[in-house]
Amino acid sequence: MKTKQFKAESKRLLELMINSIYSNKEIFLRELISNASDAIDKLYYRSLSEGLTGVRREDFFIRLDIDKEARTLTITDNGCGMTMEELESNLGTIARSGSLAFKKEMESKEDIDIIGQFGVGFYSAFMVSECVTVISRAYGSDEAWRWESKGVEGYTIEPAEKDSHGTQIILKIKQNADEEDYDQYLDTYRIRSIVKKYSDYIRYPILMDIEKTVPKKDVEGEYETVTETETINSMVPLWKRNKNELSEEDYFNFYKDKFYDYEKPARVIHSSGEGAATYHALLFIPGRTPFNYYTREYEKGLQLYANGVLIMERCPDLLPDHFSFVKGLVDSQDLSLNISREMLQQDRQLKLIAQRIEKKIKNELSSMLENDRENYEKFFKNFGLQLKYGLYSDFGMHKDVLKDLILFYSSTEKKLVTLSEYAGRMKEDQKFIYYACGESVEKIDKLPQTEVVRDKGYEILYCTDDIDEFALRMLHEYGGKEFKSVSSGDLGFETSEESDNKVKEEENKSLFENMAKALEGKVKAVRLSKRLKTHPVCISTEGALSLEMEKILNAMPTENKVKAERILEINESHPIFPVLVRLNDENPEKLKDYAQLLYTQALLIEGLPIDDPVDFTNKICSLMAEVN
Ligand code: ADP
Repeated sequence: MKTKQFKAESKRLLELMINSIYSNKEIFLRELISNASDAIDKLYYRSLSEGLTGVRREDFFIRLDIDKEARTLTITDNGCGMTMEELESNLGTIARSGSLAFKKEMESKEDIDIIGQFGVGFYSAFMVSECVTVISRAYGSDEAWRWESKGVEGYTIEPAEKDSHGTQIILKIKQNADEEDYDQYLDTYRIRSIVKKYSDYIRYPILMDIEKTVPKKDVEGEYETVTETETINSMVPLWKRNKNELSEEDYFNFYKDKFYDYEKPARVIHSSGEGAATYHALLFIPGRTPFNYYTREYEKGLQLYANGVLIMERCPDLLPDHFSFVKGLVDSQDLSLNISREMLQQDRQLKLIAQRIEKKIKNELSSMLENDRENYEKFFKNFGLQLKYGLYSDFGMHKDVLKDLILFYSSTEKKLVTLSEYAGRMKEDQKFIYYACGESVEKIDKLPQTEVVRDKGYEILYCTDDIDEFALRMLHEYGGKEFKSVSSGDLGFETSEESDNKVKEEENKSLFENMAKALEGKVKAVRLSKRLKTHPVCISTEGALSLEMEKILNAMPTENKVKAERILEINESHPIFPVLVRLNDENPEKLKDYAQLLYTQALLIEGLPIDDPVDFTNKICSLMAEVN
């Protein structure tokens, strides 16, 4: 018999398990029982959907046996079992996402304490065992196989005898070591309490022989010891249990086990519905962003059960995209087991459930926002971008669900605020909700375009994510007030300079025309600014497209580049203005250079690419050289 090698990744995980100083080693039992339960689920599902003969719900079981002499703990199930190939591929490599994520985390932190927080699966058996033997027979096969491993050196596979389908896992428990008590895993009561703690909700009976002292029959006053097989778990799935029977820890353990996340969920939603759609739902809002969340690889969806039987691992139709971060499950007795994916999409019941779930999630988030602001902001850091995408997508179809859940940084409050908070604070004469776009809060703080709006005492919302302005434009208005960019041509209020401006515009008509000519193809017009206070120039836009949108759209990999209609605005109270007026009369060539320089400066402030950096610096340098 040849010893085979583990794959390199598995070997490393195994090493960690074997040498683990982790104190919570008892979780190995949870992992093995949950594998056994999954294996039964698989077979049960097949029996119902394919009509297998001789497989009955009431025959399923998981069994625990202790042999103190031999120092073994055996976990037996009559689930689907494994073929030789399956034994090899399932137990020879890390398959499960939990283990992979765990490995990644380990490599970055080298912190043994997180073992128990992950679902690390089968290999956790090596924390307590010196040898692990798996004897398995796949359903429908007449061969059985024995897989065995003493650790990192490798494993062996050979033919074995087994009467019926299923898997038996025999753990040869380690000898007690200095600080480690392994004997406890050979103690019936200890094992029973571990099962109660982690695996009580497993839906198949977990059987165990328990010794009991009972009064002797027919002989009064005398006792005898008998062995009875007991079901040690209550078998009610967590989601069907009463909310007030369950502790935060119960939910957390369940979440960790099922969804491979070591961080506490931000929120748990446990609800049920009756009437038109009967279901139980157990939903979790994760406490952190999954590492692949904002990538194509991430798949949304909830586990779907038909009356307790898992029929789909990830049902996307149950979750709208804007809440794709939610994890959890739905169990409904109204669904048929054999329902196909296509039929599921059409299913009226499922649609109803999805609607209710969306509402539940929304309400939960609203209440979090209202009563637990700090955690809501944490949540928003993790998933706010998704909510804003949701606002924009499907032509704004979801805006009513989402508009009160989004937050923006506020110029006056210096923190994240809601639209409703903004609206509630608006000045009496204020007609619009103002926003400004930029890369960061610091950069927007310095944007010249924000000056007059600030001076008016109006609050400005900062759009720092690419999607922000698109989302606001899709929303169009909030509470009857339209959104307005501080860079838009018309700010919607009269500035003190306004009437003066008209006269000055007229007076300097030729200056503006000459500058615009010098900037032909770049700007549509040059004008006096109504919004600048201290800065010399800025760019504003007319028409539907803003500069930010231009930047974002052009960053996309398409051939068609767009261009916003730009206006170069000049601050008439800046010392540069009289210089321009003079140049217009005395030195039209130099005015052209100045127009170019000012335009380029405005682009730089805006964070837009400039056409010719070399030309720009040359011009600046020759100006600098003019000082006598
Ligand atoms: P996971 O259960 O997350 O996939 P494990 O490392 O615990 O990761 O198990 C690897 C695979 O081995 C499982 O996916 C399953 O296919 C198989 N397996 C484990 N235990 C059993 C069992 N008792 N019966 C049948 N297959 C099993």
